[in-house]
Amino acid sequence: MIVVFTGGTSGAKLVQGLQQVTASSSASAGSPSCADFAHDGVLELTVIVNTGDDIEWWGLHVSPDIDSVLYALAGLLSKDRGWGVDGDSFRCLERMKQLGQPFWFSLGDLDLATHLMRTVMLRAGKTLTEATSELAVKLGIRARVLPMSDDRVSTMLDTAEGTLTFQEYFVRERHQVEVRAVRFEGAEQARPAPGVVEAIEHAEAIIFAPSNPVTSIGPILAVPGIRDALRRTKAPIAAVSPIVGGAAVSGPAGKLMQMMGWPSSISGVARAYEDFLDVLVVDEADQHEAQELRRHGLWVCCTRTIMRSAEDKRNLAQTALDFCKAIDKSRVAATSN
Ligand code: GDP
Repeated sequence: MIVVFTGGTSGAKLVQGLQQVTASSSASAGSPSCADFAHDGVLELTVIVNTGDDIEWWGLHVSPDIDSVLYALAGLLSKDRGWGVDGDSFRCLERMKQLGQPFWFSLGDLDLATHLMRTVMLRAGKTLTEATSELAVKLGIRARVLPMSDDRVSTMLDTAEGTLTFQEYFVRERHQVEVRAVRFEGAEQARPAPGVVEAIEHAEAIIFAPSNPVTSIGPILAVPGIRDALRRTKAPIAAVSPIVGGAAVSGPAGKLMQMMGWPSSISGVARAYEDFLDVLVVDEADQHEAQELRRHGLWVCCTRTIMRSAEDKRNLAQTALDFCKAIDKSRVAATSN
């Protein structure tokens, strides 16, 4: 089983790549590393998703990162926007605006069906894990998509403009306000969702998508038990850097990492995951710094990490898996020596 940790839009791109690699276990035929990970020709994929960005909007429970992953796996994700359903309309949003309702958080008409269904299930007493699983089944998804927790964890940012939820900071303020601290409210009491720790323990490879280490992966690691499981697992752990050429490809990852005291560079990404990371997958643009990191004993793989086409996504997923397998083998060799 391959386990992926992810946020939403960019993480969803890597999840699509991993889906391509795992879907055709005939892919294994062309790829020895995948053949090694597959069982009876089936390569399972478990995706563990951030829910710190979840928001109550117009009375509905919206899980933006889970939805991006579900839409990506179902082939529904909008390529233009990177979130929401491809070809969606926004007529409800327009009407809500006319009715004087808040409209800074855009929800498409088809997207609304997902939030309605999730909210109905949650109100009927189902957990977020159960609601997510049911949505995945209805969308014909074969991979297992797990929220990080069924308990509410909210990413809160202390800013120059006061305390904001993640969506207020990211969408309403377009991440233009200065952030002084990031907190994950509720994390201390939260438990990992059923299946999360087991997936980490039984994984054959664990991949961290190039999501924001502070606000997309940070909330997942803040749930007690998850970080410990990552430190304990025998599975090789790879992370794809969201920092390319010393800066975030998009969004506030670089400045939030600096606020945490980590450099906005591949070294900063290595710092964020230093207690469990085996291999860092970085862009060719960061070759020089990669050499530096290798000197400190980390495995660093330089490759093309910008995912524009389906082929880019597949190649990056395959490279990360190949490196995990190489590490696995070197560990086996080390223990048998
Ligand atoms: P999410 O995973 O989409 O929720 O998004 P985040 O906001 O957590 O992470 C976005 C991060 O992904 C940003 O820091 C970008 O720098 C990075 N990113 C976006 N597209 C790509 C890509 O194609 N390749 C890589 N390596 N990083 C990317």
